[in-house]
Amino acid sequence: MKAAFDLAVVGGGPAGAAAGLGAARAGLTVALFEPQAAPIEKPCGEGILPAGVAALRELGLGDLLLRGQPLERIGYVLASGRELEIPFAVAGCALERGTLSAALDAALAAEARVTRIPRRVRTESTRPGFRLRCGDESWSARTLIAADGLQGEAAHWLRRERTAARRYGLRARAEARGTLARVEVHLGRHSEVYLTPLAGGRINVAVLRDEPRGDARGSEAWLAAALAEHPRAAAALGAWVTPPEARALERARPRRVAHEGAFLAGDAAGGVDPVLGCGVAIALVTGLAAARAARAVLTHGSGAPERSYARCVRRETRLRRIVARALTALGAHPRLQEVVAAALTLWPGAATGLAARVAGG
Ligand SMILES: Cc1cc2nc3c(=O)[nH]c(=O)nc-3n(C[C@H](O)[C@H](O)[C@H](O)COP(=O)(O)OP(=O)(O)OC[C@H]3O[C@@H](n4cnc5c(N)ncnc54)[C@H](O)[C@@H]3O)c2cc1C
Repeated sequence: MKAAFDLAVVGGGPAGAAAGLGAARAGLTVALFEPQAAPIEKPCGEGILPAGVAALRELGLGDLLLRGQPLERIGYVLASGRELEIPFAVAGCALERGTLSAALDAALAAEARVTRIPRRVRTESTRPGFRLRCGDESWSARTLIAADGLQGEAAHWLRRERTAARRYGLRARAEARGTLARVEVHLGRHSEVYLTPLAGGRINVAVLRDEPRGDARGSEAWLAAALAEHPRAAAALGAWVTPPEARALERARPRRVAHEGAFLAGDAAGGVDPVLGCGVAIALVTGLAAARAARAVLTHGSGAPERSYARCVRRETRLRRIVARALTALGAHPRLQEVVAAALTLWPGAATGLAARVAGG
């Protein structure tokens, strides 16, 4: 058995890195388990909502934002070709995942209280505390944050059984043909295509859709089918820079997100469909909140910190889940898209008010 830590964090994505940084700066000793070496690449639309930008500033990473592209508005392109453009009250940022991961990793490396352990671990509750195992090695910790993503298994007693996903996401990067000055979401019957302008004249292309059927199996075929459905999106793209990579987008929501010193953060806490581009923001915000809650458990004991953390996760996810569901449902109903667009044009305050609540910051 290796040294005991105040906190074990499983996963070094945005949620785990934010949790590790927040906890170490609050005085906790942290073991952070992540098998992949930084910079970690992961399929993602690479747009960070204003709430995530605020969290990066709180982590002291404001300079990192200068390496991305400010995101000041989002455009929805409906099946009819009609456009709906919604400004953000506060700018978000488009930042490549590798750049974000490298910056978070450098910040973690600068924290003397963080021990990074390159292992994929299993977790168990030892009441009090937790044990983490990998082969013959084991570590112990007084509190636990599972930030191991949508398909993770850490703190499995808080989660539900894995079931087959019905919705999938894919992303690739391409050269931009012209200038893309906003995030653009193209809504369609079979897929949504999400274009994010990146620094250096590139565009991140994310395709979100229900389980591909028939011929559209395999990432290449699936990307081609989505771009055939959305010719305006395809017209914005030049040569491919990175190949398409796909991921399942859903998993049953956990039984609970916090209990007796164990917390689920980021996608591990449930995830919201990426059609809203809010996953990284939620990961950073809940990672920081879980670190505060773990510290409160060590100082005051279990109970109130877990309840307060569960409220935070609800605040971050509830409205976004409803809006994401509505948006993906609209994709299949072009007539309803027009009705909603007409209503929002008549009442623009509703669109910007809702966007501000979804974007946070
Ligand atoms: C196609 C697509 C497009 C998207 N577009 C956007 C977008 O535009 N904007 C946005 O904000 N979000 C977007 N998202 C969502 C976003 O990528 C996720 O919400 C975000 O990565 C969640 O971060 P996380 O830290 O919770 O999990 P992850 O980033 O998944 O990190 C989990 C980490 O845990 C590690 N891990 C897993 N198991 C173990 C274990 N047993 N032991 C140790 N480590 C382990 C993994 O190696 C991984 O590094 C998109 C997602 C997809 C698939």
